[in-house]
Parts: sequence; structure tokens; C-alpha cells
Amino acid sequence: TNTPLAGRVAVVSGASSGIGAATALRLAELGAKVAVLARRKDNLDTLVESITRAGGTAIAVPVDVTDREAVHAAARQVADRLGTADLVFNNAGVQLVSPITDLRQDDWQRQIDLNVTGVMNVIGAFVPHLTAAAEAGGPADLITTSSIAATRILEKFSVYSGTKAYISHLTRLLRVELGRKNVRVATIEPGMVDTELPGHVTDPDATKLMADLIDQIDVLQSADVAETVAFMAAVPRHVNLTEITILPTAQA
Ligand code: NDP
Repeated sequence: TNTPLAGRVAVVSGASSGIGAATALRLAELGAKVAVLARRKDNLDTLVESITRAGGTAIAVPVDVTDREAVHAAARQVADRLGTADLVFNNAGVQLVSPITDLRQDDWQRQIDLNVTGVMNVIGAFVPHLTAAAEAGGPADLITTSSIAATRILEKFSVYSGTKAYISHLTRLLRVELGRKNVRVATIEPGMVDTELPGHVTDPDATKLMADLIDQIDVLQSADVAETVAFMAAVPRHVNLTEITILPTAQA
């Protein structure tokens, strides 16, 4: 069997649906032990069950990644139950698109809390794992989900795009520090993927924009992104694919 990730310990945040769930499945299929993190425990349990049924190893670690202490507790749990994490897919995120003049400040804050603070909480809890794994001579990966929104000028996406630009640029800087320690740091920047993401948007125009795109073109599926993340982690340890943009072929 093809198990290039055998021996790896992976952590996937935002694993209860969409890209995270698909990636956890794929990493497990390729031989990694996987800890799945998100708030919806039932979804995590179902995912763990299907990984286990397929002969893989996974544990559910329900956690709200905006809670710094809870993420540290999750990291201790991963260490105790699976060992040192050497593949962190820092993926939980929320997209709440609206015109700035609507002043949906709660939505602004939610995006900043999850896409910036949540991402930093995962980094804070797992960087010690990654540097330890690299020091021990093995591969180590920190892969964060950004978006094409990090660089594109999309009307009404301002706060979301700002959080993703933060992630993309943060990654370039972290590489300078962690690359020297043999920890690979990377972002994946997807275009439109068919997930629950648009379901959280309350602005009707923005919701329609995304629904239309899904109707009109053959958009990406979560499994397409999962395959790419797995590839990024499976290349030889001295190779760092740093920023991968993945678009549906027909998306402008
Ligand atoms: P989903 O909404 O399906 O997944 C989001 C995940 O984040 C869920 O598992 C959710 O689980 C989790 N999450 C939300 N809040 C928290 C929290 N406070 N603590 C822990 N986990 C949380 O959408 P996607 O799969 O599309 O999104 C994954 C990533 O991909 C995001 O960063 C998104 O910005 C990015 N992305 C998506 C694109 C797309 O077109 N779909 C395009 C480009 C980037 P739960 O609610 O159970 O906590």
C-alpha cells in the first residue's frame, strides 16, 4: 500500500467539515495518525469512526481554537495519546462577507478571532512539537489555509481578505525562522471550494455570488485540496513548497 505519511503525527484544525475533514481522511489514508480538532464533537466522532473503520488511526479533540488555554490542553492531549505532532494543518477559518458600511462589527471580530487569533493559538501550542520533531531528524510541517482572497481585490471581502493576507505574509516570515530549524512552513490558497463556508455569510448579495459560482462552474471539492496538502507533506524533507494556489480551472 502507498503510505508515504506512515509514522507521521498530524493535527488538523477545522476538521469537522469541508477541507479539514477531507484532509484528515486523506492524511490517515496515507499512513499518518491524525488528531482532529473543531468544536462540533459529533462530526469529529463520525470522522474518527470512518478513519478507524478504514484501518487508520485518529482521535477527536473537541476544542475552540480561539481559546488559547484550551488549545494548549489539546496539544498536551495529542502528545499523550499520539506523540509529538510533526504535521500541523492550521485550517479553521470563517468567512463573513459584507459591505463595510453595514458595520457588522461582530462579524469582523469573529473573523479576526478565528482566522488570526485562532491560527496564532495553534501555532503557539504546536511550534514546540514541530521543532522537536525536526530536531529528532524527521519531517515537520506547518501548513496554514489562506485563500486567493489574500491577494485579490474582492468587493465586500475586506476583513476576511485582511485576515488571509495576514496568514500569507506571516507564513513568509515564519519560514525564515523555522526553515533554518528544518520545519517547513507553507500556505495553501484555494479559490472556490464546495464546503459549508458560504453558509455562514449573512449578506444576501455575497451569498448569491458564491452560490452562483458553485452553480455555474465545476468548483473544487475538499478532496482536491486534501490531496494537495498531503502532497506538500510527503515531498522529501529538504523540499518546501511554500505557497500553493489552487483554483477551479474555470474560475477567473
Ligand atoms: P467549513 O465551514 O466547512 O469549515 C470550517 C471549519 O472550521 C469547521 O470544521 C469548523 O468546525 C471549524 N471552526 C470554526 N470555528 C472554530 C473554532 N472557534 N474553533 C475550532 N474550529 C472552528 O469551511 P472550509 O472547509 O471551506 O474552510 C476551511 C478553511 O478554508 C478556512 O480557513 C477557509 O477560510 C478556507 N478557504 C475556503 C475556501 C472555500 O471556498 N471554501 C476558499 C479559500 C479558503 P466547528 O464549527 O465544528 O468548530
